Amino acid sequence: MDQEKSKAAAGQGTRAVWSGERGERWQGATQVPVALSASFGYRTVEEWLAAALGKKAGHIYSRNTNPTVAAFEEKIRDLEDAEAATSFSSGMAAISNTLFALLSPGDRVVSIKDTYGGTNKIFLEFLPRFQIQVSLCDTTDHSAIETAIAQGCRLVYLESPTNPTIKIVDIARVAEAARRRGALVVVDNTFATPINQQPLRLGADLVIHSATKFLGGHADALGGAVCGRKDLVDRIFHFREINGACLEPMSAYLLLRGMKTLHLRVRQQNENAMRIAEFLASHRAVEKVFYPGLSSHQNHDIARRQMSGFGGVLSFALHGGFETVKKFLPRLHYANLAANLGAVETVAGPPATTSHVESTAAERAASGIPEALIRYSAGIEDADDLIADLRQALESLSAK
Ligand SMILES: *Cc1c(COP(=O)(O)O)cnc(C)c1O
Repeated sequence: MDQEKSKAAAGQGTRAVWSGERGERWQGATQVPVALSASFGYRTVEEWLAAALGKKAGHIYSRNTNPTVAAFEEKIRDLEDAEAATSFSSGMAAISNTLFALLSPGDRVVSIKDTYGGTNKIFLEFLPRFQIQVSLCDTTDHSAIETAIAQGCRLVYLESPTNPTIKIVDIARVAEAARRRGALVVVDNTFATPINQQPLRLGADLVIHSATKFLGGHADALGGAVCGRKDLVDRIFHFREINGACLEPMSAYLLLRGMKTLHLRVRQQNENAMRIAEFLASHRAVEKVFYPGLSSHQNHDIARRQMSGFGGVLSFALHGGFETVKKFLPRLHYANLAANLGAVETVAGPPATTSHVESTAAERAASGIPEALIRYSAGIEDADDLIADLRQALESLSAK
């Protein structure tokens, strides 16, 4: 009990390292073993039955639970200060399992227009097939969101900061409106990570992560997590046990290992992104920079209130159209041109090929996404090198 208490008071760095790592040691191994085992055997039928009925701790089959996966779940649960957590094969599995486990025909969901592309597809393409109504509000129009909630809904789904124009939603304000209406609040915290933002403290009932991004941090494993109230997490876990979107033990191990440095990586990425945003904002080849750490950002004040760091992702629009983007991106030495984000390496790409690959040019324009926009996920490299790299690529545009 005392040990639990002192752990509860530990800082995020200590939790990132130690949480979930206190299980049984296999032959004294200090690291969580990768339990590549589809099932778990027992010496007697009584023991087996007790574990199967949940009367005794123990694993039965890895679609339900697995010790490596359980260690990952415990680490993210503790980092989000949640009552419970469960995990998934990907972020999208976490999101779809949450929505399908908690919603029923006739329910209404209120969300924002700027959710992750895949989430948006669930709202517009799949939920309506099950007679679940979805209202997507302008992401930063808080009174429109409050009005939509007041009209009655089962669940409010938020994401902040958003993709790819890095908008900020006032989570506490929206959660208050949802509470008055008895609606559940779910927040995708992928961009912020628990180091920069803790939605449960701001009034959310559940927090979702694509662990593929910052949590794992090395772009080598897919995974997802849901953390929050135990009764809700239990319902979602039950649905996942049956539909089978479970996290692989090897991926769980890679994510666990990555998470031990989460606080260090995120601090460096916050710092790099801030410095890069300032540099870009002052460069004549750049039309606009989107980063909540800049005082020019439309919701800088909300970001300051609800975040302890502004995150590693920014975006910027170049003067010129998509042709300029095509010229610019390959000139970056220190960036993978790829669809992920939150990795130790810097990643850059246009929304047309990443988050909004499924949208048409007209739809992107309607969402206020400039065609010459570049999403830039700062890695943990030295900020000076990243800035020099961006500078040479920008200067080369005018050099011909
Ligand atoms: C990547 C991402 C997802 C989806 O996660 P996957 O692990 O790719 O399935 C969901 N939300 C946000 C904000 C993301 O960036």
